[in-house]
Amino acid sequence: MEGFTYDALPMHVVFEAGALARLPDEAARLSLSRVLVVSTPGQQALGTRAADLLGARAVGLHAKARMHVPSAIAATAVRRAQTDNADGVVAVGGGSAIGLGKIIARDTGLPMLAIPTTYSGSEMTPIWGLTEDGIKTTGRDSKVLPKGVIYDPELTVGLPPGVTATSGMNAMAHAVEALYAVDANPITSTMAEQAIAALARGLPRVMESPANLDARSDALYGAWLAGAVLGTVGMALHHKLCHTLGGTFDLPHAGVHTVILPHAAAYNAAAAPEAMARIAAALGSRDAPGGLFDLASGLDAPMSLAVLGMKESDLDRAADLAVASPYPNPAPITRERIRTLLDDAFHGRRPPA
Ligand code: NAD
Repeated sequence: MEGFTYDALPMHVVFEAGALARLPDEAARLSLSRVLVVSTPGQQALGTRAADLLGARAVGLHAKARMHVPSAIAATAVRRAQTDNADGVVAVGGGSAIGLGKIIARDTGLPMLAIPTTYSGSEMTPIWGLTEDGIKTTGRDSKVLPKGVIYDPELTVGLPPGVTATSGMNAMAHAVEALYAVDANPITSTMAEQAIAALARGLPRVMESPANLDARSDALYGAWLAGAVLGTVGMALHHKLCHTLGGTFDLPHAGVHTVILPHAAAYNAAAAPEAMARIAAALGSRDAPGGLFDLASGLDAPMSLAVLGMKESDLDRAADLAVASPYPNPAPITRERIRTLLDDAFHGRRPPA
């Protein structure tokens, strides 16, 4: 075995159907008595439920989170936490709500609890994001890593099928790239394999029967492990491309991950054979890129950049941006190969074995 370095992130996780009811205990564990709950407008009802459960420990609900944390929304939320004299924040919802909670934690130093309702995995990472004038900046800060996470599969039962599929493939992408990360280690690779297997087991059954709690638990467990490796090791080509496409061409975050993943895997297949063998085995497929493609298309997910609304005339610019700054990746990054990858992704072609 080759030598390695492993940094474990501190995490306290409660995982159980119905675990939302344990929110007051989790707030008490952190001695919180003035908690501000944050959510997106679409999940105000769940935010209200969380605030009601906290009772006297809650100072209110701020249901104004938006995708990619626009800076004006963030500034208002930080002010609200300060004027309410909050001593903690509970973020309930997907990556957008958790992203807003993270900026409150970063700017005020308040401890955060997260109750994820999608498979984004943001709750497991010390990475924050903030968008100003259309440009998204990200950074790492241990203050934004939640002090506790409540995973309640019951809260994901209402996640619409389209979001379930793309959010699940977003989680899958974290685990796939963790297996060929430049700083991969045996611990994160084991977690990534388990994540891929749990997502591949859970997601198709969730699509057949959205209220199947056993399948929802598999998917959420996979998303947890995938988020944990995203927070621990560095990501490569796939995440770089998705960041470029989502940010510059205003394409939906999780949808872009779904479309690009099989093609990013194909790009790296020859350069990372061991990772590919582990991904294929965890998927139960013959090869990794084809297996990822078949899993996503079986979930009725969007399979091409064209379907996501990208213009073919923007592919050249996307290729230029994707090669503008260097980053670690198993296969060398060349403009020509990236342009071919984007063409395949634009047309939604199944990668050959
Ligand atoms: P999201 O949080 O925007 O949720 C998508 C939509 O689904 C929202 O309208 C939301 O209200 C709704 N929703 C969420 N859960 C639901 C449920 N259970 N039932 C019904 N509706 C529900 O989307 P997302 O994909 O979870 O998060 C994307 C954001 O997270 C992006 O901004 C991305 O950059 C960020 N992100 C950050 C990290 C990180 O480590 N910092 C990791 C992954 C994603």
